[in-house]
Amino acid sequence: MEQKKLKDVVIVGGGTAGWMTAAGLANGLKGKYNITLVESDLIATIGVGEATIPSIRRFNDILGIDETEFIRATQGTFKLGIEFVNWGRLGDRYIHGFGVIGQETWTVDFYQYWLKQHLAGKAPGLDHYSINTAACLQNKFIPTQRDMPNSPLGQIVHAYHFDAGLYAKYLRKYAEARGVARVEGKIEDVVVRDADGHIEAVVLEGGRKVAGELFIDCSGFRGLLIEGTLKTGYEDWSHWLPCDTAIAVPCASAPELTPYTRSTARSAGWQWRIPLQHRIGNGHVFCSKFMSEDEATAILLQNLDGEPLAEPRPVRFKTGKRKQAWNKNCISIGLSGGFIEPLESTSIHLIQEGIAHLLSHFPSAGFEQADINQYNRMMNDEYVWARDFVILHYKAMERTDSPFWKYCREMEIPELLQHKIDLFRSNGRVFREGNELFAKPSWVQVMWGQRIRPQSYNPLVDLIGEEEIQGYLDEVEGVIKECVKVMPTLSAYVQANCAADKMPM
Ligand SMILES: Cc1cc2nc3c(=O)[nH]c(=O)nc-3n(C[C@H](O)[C@H](O)[C@H](O)COP(=O)(O)OP(=O)(O)OC[C@H]3O[C@@H](n4cnc5c(N)ncnc54)[C@H](O)[C@@H]3O)c2cc1C
Repeated sequence: MEQKKLKDVVIVGGGTAGWMTAAGLANGLKGKYNITLVESDLIATIGVGEATIPSIRRFNDILGIDETEFIRATQGTFKLGIEFVNWGRLGDRYIHGFGVIGQETWTVDFYQYWLKQHLAGKAPGLDHYSINTAACLQNKFIPTQRDMPNSPLGQIVHAYHFDAGLYAKYLRKYAEARGVARVEGKIEDVVVRDADGHIEAVVLEGGRKVAGELFIDCSGFRGLLIEGTLKTGYEDWSHWLPCDTAIAVPCASAPELTPYTRSTARSAGWQWRIPLQHRIGNGHVFCSKFMSEDEATAILLQNLDGEPLAEPRPVRFKTGKRKQAWNKNCISIGLSGGFIEPLESTSIHLIQEGIAHLLSHFPSAGFEQADINQYNRMMNDEYVWARDFVILHYKAMERTDSPFWKYCREMEIPELLQHKIDLFRSNGRVFREGNELFAKPSWVQVMWGQRIRPQSYNPLVDLIGEEEIQGYLDEVEGVIKECVKVMPTLSAYVQANCAADKMPM
């Protein structure tokens, strides 16, 4: 049948995904399409999702967002990595810092030289060779010094912590200023075209219809259009990522800001700590088969850095993803498309990728199945890459203190992840699959941090004399140490450059 030319885009949902999509499309489509966002004040947004990874800076840059204004508007802080406590073994602590370890090298990775010396007891921990991690350990922060490309100060890589509600509000302002129309109302019905099953309109309480040719489902876990209407199906990953509930609670700030998210493993999951300017976001992610909600709440409340500022709130979820991110004329972005639990802060990144891939596959005069298939392949890869990296943390556990960790240690894992672990175990080798989200330094830090030990190192390391290697390592370590010394603390940096207005609690 003849297809109408695409003119009207309808976004359903005004959480982080909805407003990121609205802002991204308002920017990318340059006012040539009508964009309408429908949201209901009666249906709350998820209200969590406050830690990000560095790719968010690219999204903000494309949108032309000024960093200082953004941090102030969202009560934001800067993030250099994630600290993992009690992962591996009880009492263990390591940081997954963003950015490079040592220096970018050609065939033999820097960490391979470190590995040789470290295995021989001649080099300290990996944390001494990452500017991000070394800064985290002293609560220091400075953004990348672009005029110093050869210094570790030019290699700092940061992301953000921010208030999710304020972030959506900020993007709403951005999107509305660029022509996005917001419609308030609860969607009660969806009109589907008989001929091909495409969505034609959503119908609000009271009967108002919002029609369009392309629908973006950002309605959260409920997947109002992608599942409720189109019955697309869900790929369940809970056998690999068994946590299914989170209890979230904000608490009062600590005196010193930390430039990292903290994840502390508990007996049936883990607890997050996200420092913002006006409060700390906390949550306990756990598996309800192994722990009750009451117990999880009690553990969370016993482990806060300050007074709780609200009632603890449960959020239930099932890890996995929609079988097709794009089905007919509907694309699911955000929680409606899937959820990998928040251990490595990947969800907002996946929203970004959903928007970027949509723009590069944007249907102009119709819906070509080849475009849809390609989009779905690419989004599938994005999810699987993030998923496997998160599963690694659960699998690489030596803890035997609870049935939950026993399950995780013994579970079967995806083949490619098993291969990566085996490869690292032999000669410490890590390879990046295609455009995989997490690069080598991330894999190395988590595998090493959780006690996966290579039997040896890349033999090409031996082509260079030991003295020379030791000198090289010492120099890199020394320069990083000097750089961290001159950095301000994160608290001082924020105070001097982007302190937000005090918020009423
Ligand atoms: C416990 C937990 C912790 C997380 N932590 C992180 C993190 O640290 N970092 C990270 O990147 N991500 C994190 N995430 C994921 C992140 O929160 C989400 O990806 C992000 O908030 C996007 O949510 P959303 O917009 O898809 O859905 P929601 O926030 O649920 O928004 C759904 C929207 O749809 C609207 N809606 C629904 N039904 C209707 C209807 N019938 N009519 C009209 N409107 C409707 C609602 O009003 C709302 O506006 C976390 C998620 C969870 C569950």
